[in-house]
Amino acid sequence: MRVMLTTKPLTESQKALEKLGLRRDIDLALHLPLRYEDETRIVRLRDAPDGTPVQIEGTVVHQEVSTRPRRQLIGHLDDGSDSCVLRFFSFYGSQLKTMAVGQRLRARGEIKGGFLGRTMLHPTIKRAEGDLPTALTPVYPTVAGLPQAYLRKAVLGGLARADLSDTFAPGDLEWLRHAPHHPGPTALWQLRQALEFLHHPTPDVSIDTLMDHSHPAWQRLKAEELLAQQLSQLQSRRERAALRAPALQPQAPRALRAALLQALPFALTQAQERVCAEIEHDLSRPVPMHRLLQGDVGAGKTVVAALAAVHCMDAGWQCAVMAPTEILAEQHFRKLVNWLEPLGITTAWLTGTQKTKERRSMLALIESGEAHLVVGTHAIIQDKVKFHRLALAIIDEQHRFGVAQRLALRKKMAVSDSDEAGESSTHGHEPHLLMMSATPIPRTLAMSYYADLDVSTLDELPPGRTPIITRVVHEARRDEVIERIRAQISQGRQVYWVCPLIEESEALDLSNATQTHADLAEALQGTQRADGLPVLIGLLHSRMPSEDKKAVMAAFTAGLMSVLVSTTVIEVGVDVPNASLMVIEHAERFGLSQLHQLRGRVGRGAAASACVLLYSTGDAPRLGEAARARLKAMSDTNDGFEIARRDLDIRGPGEFLGARQSGAAMLRFADLANDTALLEWARTEAPRLWDQHPQLAAKHVARWMGTKAEYLKA
Ligand code: ADP
Ligand code: MG
Repeated sequence: MRVMLTTKPLTESQKALEKLGLRRDIDLALHLPLRYEDETRIVRLRDAPDGTPVQIEGTVVHQEVSTRPRRQLIGHLDDGSDSCVLRFFSFYGSQLKTMAVGQRLRARGEIKGGFLGRTMLHPTIKRAEGDLPTALTPVYPTVAGLPQAYLRKAVLGGLARADLSDTFAPGDLEWLRHAPHHPGPTALWQLRQALEFLHHPTPDVSIDTLMDHSHPAWQRLKAEELLAQQLSQLQSRRERAALRAPALQPQAPRALRAALLQALPFALTQAQERVCAEIEHDLSRPVPMHRLLQGDVGAGKTVVAALAAVHCMDAGWQCAVMAPTEILAEQHFRKLVNWLEPLGITTAWLTGTQKTKERRSMLALIESGEAHLVVGTHAIIQDKVKFHRLALAIIDEQHRFGVAQRLALRKKMAVSDSDEAGESSTHGHEPHLLMMSATPIPRTLAMSYYADLDVSTLDELPPGRTPIITRVVHEARRDEVIERIRAQISQGRQVYWVCPLIEESEALDLSNATQTHADLAEALQGTQRADGLPVLIGLLHSRMPSEDKKAVMAAFTAGLMSVLVSTTVIEVGVDVPNASLMVIEHAERFGLSQLHQLRGRVGRGAAASACVLLYSTGDAPRLGEAARARLKAMSDTNDGFEIARRDLDIRGPGEFLGARQSGAAMLRFADLANDTALLEWARTEAPRLWDQHPQLAAKHVARWMGTKAEYLKA
């Protein structure tokens, strides 16, 4: 007997719908057109202007397939007022039929005057049958294997079936109407009304207001979306407020803190004092802290992290510090050990590449609680690691971790020692989280995107820094750059040379760096160091064994190595104050925030520092516009916040955040740069709706977020 399949396999088109994330009726209803085509009107040929899209209808009076100068299909359409050539350079057999002489046709396209007379090149054609549609025809974003016709039908079905009942609180539409910069009474659109309109707008609408999303129907959609985002962040914020964390209240005299401050070779800046106070305040509460510490490169975040760690340890708890790369973790480890070991703190070190034996002894130190501080890479969040009494996790360069890793961290740490009994148990506790980032996010984005995070900002650099001079230099002047390097070396300074990024291939990256290293070594022959030591030129790239990387970094940090040629592995965190020159090759290929991060490797000491951005236009006569804007921003300013604003301008919010928050849910409709009034409204409205109409709030989040809500918490 044959086995009957109960479920039919998905068709190509169904699979493509899945791929677009269009699973629920509501997802289909919210899949909005990219643009529209106007098939509602027929324009008489005599009245049809050249160069704008029109639909004409007439009879085919001539057809030919000619082969000169190229193979092409030519038809003549006559509508009684005039005639027009329809011309196709590629065509199907079916089009020959549709365009048979005597057929009545509708053709849509732009008319241009041409060699053969007025011509439509590659128009959309169909038989003239039935009434004209009364609404504009939507054109949806789609993927390969999903024809518009199929998608239109699917969306229409979804739109009809979806529950689109209103989830705004009564009175909200009124509020919206009075929101600043709001288009006014016309904004009182219901969700169903707005969606039906946006899928099938009437032809009298101003297309511009649809395209720039200023139409009241769009305003409603954007308000919906922003409210959903604010609600889901509020939800995670409130869920967090219901969680318990150890209240870290060290007893006076807070010995470790005092000793650390005493030992530091500098006094804290006011900004550092302020953010430390903010952090310590959060840590002393029984609710998990989720705080983002943002500060420009070189602002001194590490010492703030150390003081937070010390606050935690003074209260008798463990602290973990996690960094995205081994080089950076290693550097934190060295610095923290340097500061804290003299105070009697034992620090454990965890990384994916360490030897089993070492690893075992580290795990034992952590589990027994003998290590008060744990520093490492994401090895820290692996299963084997059991903390004794973890209360604070510090994540450096948090945007470099994937969303999934951040979620894993929170989950793991929350349960890491929940099975432990006795007084030291942290059962049911979440750790406090301090995330650090040198990639500042402009205020509007921060308040929307990080609504679940409290943000502390270091807006002041430590004193005594000399601003970095940045020069944009064509690669033809490489020799002059080499001369500058010589001068720096002979003054006992150190130099970074960062090699170009070749996206397609890590192997190419490597050969490039190797070649540059060899070339530089040759070009710099005969250079003398003031102290008489030999001039060493090192090479660092991500494929090197970690022992070698460590050795190279150590030599550079100790000042034994004069030049460090590297791929972007040094991008974040590396701190060698004696380095005074940064050369970035093919700077035009790098993103703005990456350039700024790289530049931040110099200017960390008192010496005047410089950054040279070497660029090449390749075969093109000049650089592209975006590349030029990036290099200009770099030479105009050293201020990370200003750089971030420019980056936002150049790329737009979607991409700007996308690079930082891979995997996170993006806003599809609202534009944070322009929809600030709606965003402010959503921010005030979210808590009100949540408190006064919890069912509406829950329904709204489910409708908009689907399965994405979880990601917003990371
Ligand atoms: P980032 O914020 O980029 O992580 P770091 O923490 O690496 O910056 O600090 C950059 C440099 O500034 C380090 O060498 C650090 O010791 C030094 N530093 C930090 N705070 C101060 C301060 N208040 N006064 C002087 N130097 C400081
Ligand atoms: Mg740092």
